[in-house]
Amino acid sequence: MLRSCFVLALAALGLAACQDHPTSPSASTAPDERRASKGPYVVHGVYLVPADRPLRRDYARQIGDALEHLQIWYHNELGSGVTFTLAKPEVQIVRTSHASSYYAGAGQTLDFWFNALGDGFAATGGGFNDPDDIWLYYIDAEPQCTQATGGVASVALLPANDLRGLTGETTISVCTGAPEPDQGRCRWVGGLGHELGHALGLAHPPDCEAGLPTCPQNALLWLGYLTYPDAILSAADKTALEAEPFFTTLKLPDRLSSCAGHGKPTGPPAARLGSLFSVAAPACGFDALRQTVGARLTGP
Ligand SMILES: [Zn+2]
Repeated sequence: MLRSCFVLALAALGLAACQDHPTSPSASTAPDERRASKGPYVVHGVYLVPADRPLRRDYARQIGDALEHLQIWYHNELGSGVTFTLAKPEVQIVRTSHASSYYAGAGQTLDFWFNALGDGFAATGGGFNDPDDIWLYYIDAEPQCTQATGGVASVALLPANDLRGLTGETTISVCTGAPEPDQGRCRWVGGLGHELGHALGLAHPPDCEAGLPTCPQNALLWLGYLTYPDAILSAADKTALEAEPFFTTLKLPDRLSSCAGHGKPTGPPAARLGSLFSVAAPACGFDALRQTVGARLTGP
């Protein structure tokens, strides 16, 4: 999401991207192309456990709980009775053959992204622009400070801090090694929701990217992940999702349970947003924010 902004090898595509919206071999599959595929259209959670890390059942459980929360949140926010379907099981657990230190590789921006997804794809059959599946990978490993994680083209990758955040553990800055302030568990559910949106092809709101005062700051695909579940989908996001074969009518409870879990509430949503950000004109969301939040944005 709103992390260091960089121009990737995507130059060939004429695109600039933020670090949470990393590169894939080609642009996202359009909904029409997905509709031509067979389905079923499901969202998979995957928990990758490096060889030197313990298998944490609570991590897997928290990923599943977050996915179920988002399933209802998207349903309620769209308001048309549709949402995404979760795979069975909702979360696959995969023990990898590499130690956690392997994934950062030589420290290049996309080393962590491609090393982790390489193991993830090999174990699950996932891949970019999968017409029938969305693949959300968590890995219990730390990227280096400037390395990309995030979501794009049917895939998202979330690192160890997201597992810690979901479980109520203290997150550790990958830039300084210092413990980070507790943002509450909901922020990490919102972070997954933001990256799921990217995996489904949603982009940051154009007005926000352009630094316009009309930017909906609380859009889930902008800063709304910080105040989740007090966040919105933009009208454009709703239109795009309702055209998605991944979104079908499902009967779900309307009532959204608390996502706070183990996390401590950090104040009213508006106050939280205001205290985290003083955004005038975020350039690709990050440069203007970095001064106020620093390493905080190395999360999802
Ligand atoms: Zn983003």
